[in-house]
Amino acid sequence: FDYRSEGVSGKDKELEKVLRPKQFDDFTGQKKVIENLEVFVEATKKRGESLDHVLLHGPPGLGKTTLANIIANELGVGFKVTSGPVLDKPGDLAGLLTNLEEGDVLFIDEIHRLSPVIEEYLYSAMEDYVIDILIDTGPNARTVQIALNPFTLIGATTRSGLLTAPLRARFGINARLEYYDAKTLSDIVERSAGILNIGIDVPAAYEIASRSRGTPRIANALLRRVRDFAEIKGSGTIDTKITNIALEALNVDKNGLDEMDNKILLTIIDKFSGGPVGLTTIATAVGENAETLEEVYEPFLIQEGYIMRTPRGRKVTDKAYKHLGKNSGYMPGS
Ligand code: ADP
Repeated sequence: FDYRSEGVSGKDKELEKVLRPKQFDDFTGQKKVIENLEVFVEATKKRGESLDHVLLHGPPGLGKTTLANIIANELGVGFKVTSGPVLDKPGDLAGLLTNLEEGDVLFIDEIHRLSPVIEEYLYSAMEDYVIDILIDTGPNARTVQIALNPFTLIGATTRSGLLTAPLRARFGINARLEYYDAKTLSDIVERSAGILNIGIDVPAAYEIASRSRGTPRIANALLRRVRDFAEIKGSGTIDTKITNIALEALNVDKNGLDEMDNKILLTIIDKFSGGPVGLTTIATAVGENAETLEEVYEPFLIQEGYIMRTPRGRKVTDKAYKHLGKNSGYMPGS
């Protein structure tokens, strides 16, 4: 059972769509980012231009895709979606770009995973709204330049550090999404429960929220799983009692860490004396790939103060020892 993966099941995917806010007003949290985007969208509409290209960064499940949708909606333009790993031939990109209507939004998820060839193509598309296409082969090969409609590229990335400088420089608007605090997530849980017709009391919503790793996608997924427990083992409505039972059954602990989080901390402590230890070594030891570890698990463990990054690798903190009820074995002077 993995409630944090993207493609959990067809049904969960469907529900994600239903729960997705459609306008700035429905989007909870990230206040600063939203306020700025509202200004940029409003100004763009007033001038009748296309919006500057937008780069959204932050860990998975914080609302990047949702925001890209909202921006297109608020601009009243079309929305096309693709992702870095999917775009592997320049022809695919050319097809997408030439089909964009004036002002449309092209959303590229995982934009840090674009191939260098595709990236090259994007430069002129983003800057001058033109692309050079190679036609024919051999001695007749030549390039023709095709003009595109002005459009807005919205790129999403979990790893903005991996973006090349020339690509990054072509985004006029840069927004970073942060983990949500429990109160904000609690509002999101209550909103989702309302849409899905789930009865839940306020303390239970807050309990789910505070154990969701600051992430709306996880909060929504846990809400649906807790509902199952409430329907089968409880009264049908979600209260704190059934929430605690359900979350324990799902291996989400009191601090919101799940099985893998705890496994990572335990491994660093038990196998590597608390660190420092390299990321790939940890990945091998816990049987997870290094990229997922770095993009999905580590940012939250660092933000919550369980792990530190040092020049020689990752180290657990005192908080991690305390959390796991372990002795840190730290001796002054050692
Ligand atoms: P990302 O693209 O960053 O991985 P998504 O935009 O796909 O994240 O969001 C994941 C889920 O979380 C969506 O179903 C969406 O409904 C919900 N969600 C994300 N941010 C918010 C928010 N601020 N308010 C309400 N729901 C949100």
